[in-house]
Amino acid sequence: MLALRSSPPSFGIPEAERLALESYGLAVSSHALHGERDCNFRVTTADRREFVLKILALGSDAEAGSADCLVRVLDHLAEQDPSLPVPRLFPTLQGEAIGRFTRDGTDYGACLLGFLPGQLVAQSPAGGVLLQQIGHTLARLDRALRGFFHPSLRRRLAWDVRRLPELTEHSRYLPPTLRDTVDAVSEAFHRCLGRLGGLRSQAIHGDCHASNVLVDPSAQSVCGILDFGDMIHAPLIFEPAVAMAELLTGKAAPIESIDAVLRGFAQAQPLESDEVDLLFDIVTARHAVTLLVRAWRSHHDPAGARLLDQAAAHAELSLATMLRAGRSALTDRWHAAAGAGIHATDSRARDAPHLERRHRLMGKGAELFYDQPLHLVRGAGVWLYDPQGRAYLDVYNNVPHVGHAHPTVVAAIQKQTAILATHTRYLHENILDYAEHLTARLPAKLDACIFVNSGSEANDVAWRMARMASGHDGGLVMDYAYHGITEAVAALTPSVRREHDRRVATLAPPPHGLRAGDAMTDVQLAAAAQDLDRAIAELAERGLGPAAFFLDTALTSSGIFDPPSAWARALGARLRAAGCLIVADEVQYGLGRCGSHFWGFERRGLEPDIVTLGKPVGNGYPMGVVIANRALIEAFQARFGFFSTFGGNAVAAAAGLAVLQVLDAEQLMANAAATGAYLREQLESVAARHESLREVRGTGLLQGLEVVDGDGAPSRARARKIINALAAEFRILIGYEGPHAAILKLRPPMPFRREHVDLLVQAIDATASAAADR
Ligand code: PMP
Repeated sequence: MLALRSSPPSFGIPEAERLALESYGLAVSSHALHGERDCNFRVTTADRREFVLKILALGSDAEAGSADCLVRVLDHLAEQDPSLPVPRLFPTLQGEAIGRFTRDGTDYGACLLGFLPGQLVAQSPAGGVLLQQIGHTLARLDRALRGFFHPSLRRRLAWDVRRLPELTEHSRYLPPTLRDTVDAVSEAFHRCLGRLGGLRSQAIHGDCHASNVLVDPSAQSVCGILDFGDMIHAPLIFEPAVAMAELLTGKAAPIESIDAVLRGFAQAQPLESDEVDLLFDIVTARHAVTLLVRAWRSHHDPAGARLLDQAAAHAELSLATMLRAGRSALTDRWHAAAGAGIHATDSRARDAPHLERRHRLMGKGAELFYDQPLHLVRGAGVWLYDPQGRAYLDVYNNVPHVGHAHPTVVAAIQKQTAILATHTRYLHENILDYAEHLTARLPAKLDACIFVNSGSEANDVAWRMARMASGHDGGLVMDYAYHGITEAVAALTPSVRREHDRRVATLAPPPHGLRAGDAMTDVQLAAAAQDLDRAIAELAERGLGPAAFFLDTALTSSGIFDPPSAWARALGARLRAAGCLIVADEVQYGLGRCGSHFWGFERRGLEPDIVTLGKPVGNGYPMGVVIANRALIEAFQARFGFFSTFGGNAVAAAAGLAVLQVLDAEQLMANAAATGAYLREQLESVAARHESLREVRGTGLLQGLEVVDGDGAPSRARARKIINALAAEFRILIGYEGPHAAILKLRPPMPFRREHVDLLVQAIDATASAAADR
């Protein structure tokens, strides 16, 4: 059974003053101080020297061990870091650290500590700067404690959150709603006990609450860390966690400023990612422990319970605040705060040599985003982090389709790469499983795959296949399309191509303003058909037949269009009649991004002969896929032979499978539909408020917002201002798109939610007027 009672020895002032005289030769006046376990007096000599006289119970081995531990740890700290604001121990007249005596047959010890000046945080609530100082001081304390050990640190303390499972039964003493909350916290904590065991551990103070920290509010400094009676050997992260729990006391330290404790801690003692990941569970567990100890005492030790009334009220309030904020939001914040401690230098100063080095090693032409280039070191979900630990909302990257560093995908890659990473010239199940899962989601005739390493390579293969199958050599693409970087595919990429390629003709974009559900007029359909005829005729003039029509099904670089299926149908029939294959480039839209369909070509109403995939399929593991009818693939293999060293290797396949699994498990396509609809609605409303914003384009989690100048013409300059301001001032990352680079490109990882939309749209709202003003 854990000791839950508050049972300090009971001594009066005359006894304390007698002890001071007999053991220390000090004539003092004194008054009692509060103590959970010890009996403490503040004693003052005639010449106004001040001390704390502590009377410790020594009756049991455990009590004697604790007293010995206290003496040794204060010695150790004085030696390791004499500047730490912790009490100093004064010996007895006989030179002993503890003066032993017996009263009524029980052993006690007295020790004399230097009195530390300052105000208790309990009486003088700390703001952000002080909280950061407290975190910093605790980390220094723990650095000094690294080499310390004492057998009694293994003691079983009720306050050690690892004991929470043993306390859970007392939740029956709590009122029903609070009981449910505490039970849920205990259950969540129980699940991370195993992971706690894997964290670095050492001696820690373990009890930094508002009555154990002294501060000087005028100097904004910490003058004392008190009470080493709850020291334990435990995961290091418990130290800031307990402080964060105990100092998160509603008015005194709102949830926004409590990050400061962690930031300060990490500045003096860098934290590991795993430690920060578990913080939420540890802090909530600490609150649960407070509530449970008090609940037990209220039935068995009413006086002890009263000592915890205030702490329990705070714990209940803080717990509610934390649960409302949510694990992932707080964990994100805390990663940002902890990251800040690790590299706290000025980013511009640090990035200058970085840029110079990059120019030297990669050439000045290596593209960079933003006027002030971003240095990123970590990603999680829809967030990216810079070396200072600042979080950026990612509204641009579609490669991390199911979220940056998704644990399921990371684990799949790690697991497979630790077992075997070979190519498709050996038999392996992974690639077959993956091909089966992919083709199962495609029309029946698209039943076989070729695996490569990028979208460009997939399009390159598709191009060769189409030329072989059609016997033609001409290519058709949308105006301003992007399909990749190989020599052949660059020719099919008018958005980047510097010179016109005679083998390729381009098609005009679909009519502006039309959306997938809209009807098209006969005039519009006839115009699209005529435009295609014109392009085919252009090729014919150059002696070429059309081999392939490549369509990025989101028409991303062309300006982000979402035309009705009648548009693609008008083209499809004519393309077939001309003997042209249709290639659906799903590098942008594939895997559910449009929300309504798993594939973009389904939304377009197009029946492709070949589908190409890239970017999102490996969630960051390089990977491309070409999917077509097996007869076409076999004819291609027979004619050219085909093997890609890395394409379809066992690790890539594991990544691809994990992505599909996460998409289903987290219902991310449904999220793209729901969040996409909300995004559209919010963008339309912000566009209506600003003369610099016009058309909202696209659907799902690929949308565009057109930026115009005072005359209503697309404005690259204003778009750039908005994009740079979003990154620099709001830490929100977007891109630009379209022939005039005047369309804000919004294409986040798929776990993008309503709250992220709100952050984005508020920031666009704030920057859109400024972009017009400047
Ligand atoms: N097709 C489309 C539609 C793309 O957007 C891209 C990349 N932006 C590619 C192909 C080329 O893919 P990768 O960069 O992987 O070669």
